Amino acid sequence: MLIERIWAANDLRNFQYLVACSETGEALVIDPLEGRQCLEAARARGFTTRQILNTHEHLDHTAGNEVVVEETRARVLAHAGAASRIGGVDRGLGRGDIIKVGRTVELEVLDTPGHTRSHVCLLAHGDSPALFCGDTLFNAGAGNCHNGGDPKLLYETFVNQLAQLPDATRVYPGHEYMARNLAFTLDREPGNVDAAKALATAKAVKPEDARVTTLGEEKRVNAFLRLQNPEVVARLRERFPEIGEKPDARTVFVKLRELRNSW
Ligand SMILES: [Zn+2]
Ligand SMILES: [Zn+2]
Repeated sequence: MLIERIWAANDLRNFQYLVACSETGEALVIDPLEGRQCLEAARARGFTTRQILNTHEHLDHTAGNEVVVEETRARVLAHAGAASRIGGVDRGLGRGDIIKVGRTVELEVLDTPGHTRSHVCLLAHGDSPALFCGDTLFNAGAGNCHNGGDPKLLYETFVNQLAQLPDATRVYPGHEYMARNLAFTLDREPGNVDAAKALATAKAVKPEDARVTTLGEEKRVNAFLRLQNPEVVARLRERFPEIGEKPDARTVFVKLRELRNSW
């Protein structure tokens, strides 16, 4: 499986992706925002774009569909529940569906609500597993729930699905928010040495060169995956005394998300 990450260089700091078969060069574009930029990247690598996948319906993940379809006749894939809001969707997806790219790539569809009600992540299995997670999981953070989402659903997605994946899973999110999110983790958990190191590294590189993390690393530096950490809970209680001494993980997650909204 070949992966090309494309930095959109916009204020929202979007990442777009090409996933291609190493034997046939057939490619899937994930979350095209700048369609021409994605086409150019595919051309430069010699890929033939056959499919587009939108992780969810927000415009910064779909705006490039039209240009890519016009040029390549690619099929558009998206969560069945988001299809009517995106428009032009050829294949509505549900949990457990498989997306084939060329001869060698198979991606499993995960139904991952929270950022929106109808959001999919794609999982590549194998020796080097990879997760394309849109606006669900970010490096050291979690997606917001302002535009059609629900933090309780996002919690369920994190705990029951994403946190269960192998630690070696590489994480490919829809935006580059690494440094800002690590600063949030450190504000929750000043003693987190891994987060401090990762922040120094993140500040030293351009966003387009941001490191690809693994889920194992995320579990060490992402506050939204550290819901039982005593320091996280204690600091959260200073802000939200009503959560009590032993808040359940869901309460911690929802309050972290609430805090991050205004942080
Ligand atoms: Zn979004
Ligand atoms: Zn987005």
